[in-house]
Amino acid sequence: MIHPEGLEDVVRALSLAEKFRIPVVPRGAGTGVAGGCVPFLGGIVLVFDRMNRILDIDTENLHVRVEPGVITGDLDREVRNVGLFYPPDPASIDSCMIGGNIATNAGGPRALKYGVTKHYTLELQVVLPGGRVVRFGRRTKKWVVGYDLVSAFVGSEGTLGVLTEAVLRLIPDPPQIETLLVAFPDELKASETVTELIRRRYLPRALEFLDRVSVAHIAERLPGSLPDGTQALLLIEVDGRGDLFDELEEIAGICEKNGALEIYASRDEKDRARLWDARRKVFPSLEEKYERVRSEDIVVPRSYIPEAVRRIRELASGLGIGVATFGHAGDGNLHVNFLYSGDREGEVLKAVGELYKIALDLDGTISGEHGVGILKKDFIHLEQEPLLIELQKALKKTFDPLGIMNPGKIFPD
Ligand SMILES: Cc1cc2nc3c(=O)[nH]c(=O)nc-3n(C[C@H](O)[C@H](O)[C@H](O)COP(=O)(O)OP(=O)(O)OC[C@H]3O[C@@H](n4cnc5c(N)ncnc54)[C@H](O)[C@@H]3O)c2cc1C
Repeated sequence: MIHPEGLEDVVRALSLAEKFRIPVVPRGAGTGVAGGCVPFLGGIVLVFDRMNRILDIDTENLHVRVEPGVITGDLDREVRNVGLFYPPDPASIDSCMIGGNIATNAGGPRALKYGVTKHYTLELQVVLPGGRVVRFGRRTKKWVVGYDLVSAFVGSEGTLGVLTEAVLRLIPDPPQIETLLVAFPDELKASETVTELIRRRYLPRALEFLDRVSVAHIAERLPGSLPDGTQALLLIEVDGRGDLFDELEEIAGICEKNGALEIYASRDEKDRARLWDARRKVFPSLEEKYERVRSEDIVVPRSYIPEAVRRIRELASGLGIGVATFGHAGDGNLHVNFLYSGDREGEVLKAVGELYKIALDLDGTISGEHGVGILKKDFIHLEQEPLLIELQKALKKTFDPLGIMNPGKIFPD
């Protein structure tokens, strides 16, 4: 394991790796949930915790230059201090790193209004096997000179090269934010509300769904806040300049019409933080309570969310295995967590295959933000035709002719 302190260390490591044909596995904070940073074939693990500087914030041109080991939450706070905003906010924001976010094209609750990591990635410095250093993209607002290799690199899960620096786009920080926690007596009503809000042209900054199993886990962190009979929750956040009251009232009206039991509006910044903290802790809380948690993140077109929730519930009860579904429903992105003990691994793997079929049958995808890593590589063919897989493998070969960059990830063996 190597903890590089700068570009030169990475260049040396990749020169040696090529010379001796050693696999290289880049690693950020290790919060990835597809096994992308696991060195299961051995090799050099490059951990970026020491390359964690915010190099400069350009307040005139609205971008920031960072090293890959910057914790996303630190960047979020630093740029807000100067009135700017870096929207991508994975729920792991206080531990994950920008390099890992770029390599997985991380999303988060705010992706609904603001998009995911790729929408903020302007320019990258990357070290290729052999120690060759290359920069992709430009920090201008627009550019069209050759292929967009920034987009190819974002989401490539460490299989093309090692990221050593990134220039990220910033936007003005919206001054007003309001958050609602809405309790529903049933999951379908809550999921239909998501679809209705999108259909009626609302664009909240976040629109999170939690099913009844997830409610039990969030309830512990919000004592006394949820009415009896709560079977599903929506966490809805709007932002902007000026008065947000009319928008909030309209959204609350739609929730009420759809049978909401209670609509709670956060009182202040501290109260908002309390609600988000509870939401972010749902996954860690599942991991604490169950021997195994297999976390999936399918996406379906938003109008199919209620159908997806219904089919997932059916799948779960057919299996007799606990399933907690929550996530960025406004994006159509549902984190489906299978909760089980080790002796049921085989059944869960089958259920995962069934879940992917549900996603694809509804015109969706098998991963919205977690990536493929090791976990989904044997399923990628369900979504992508052989030619598409071959084109991507050919691209990898161009960057990494010896196949030493994070081998065994994304593509089936
Ligand atoms: C509680 C919890 C909540 C989460 N919520 C979300 C969420 O809301 N949205 C979301 O998108 N994800 C979420 N995740 C998943 C995870 O946090 C993200 O995938 C995150 O982007 C991973 O960052 P990391 O620094 O931990 O990367 P790692 O896990 O260390 O690595 C992830 C991948 O990036 C590659 N990589 C890392 N650094 C580099 C580099 N410098 N150069 C090239 N490749 C590199 C690795 O090889 C690996 O393939 C969550 C995870 C947890 C545990």
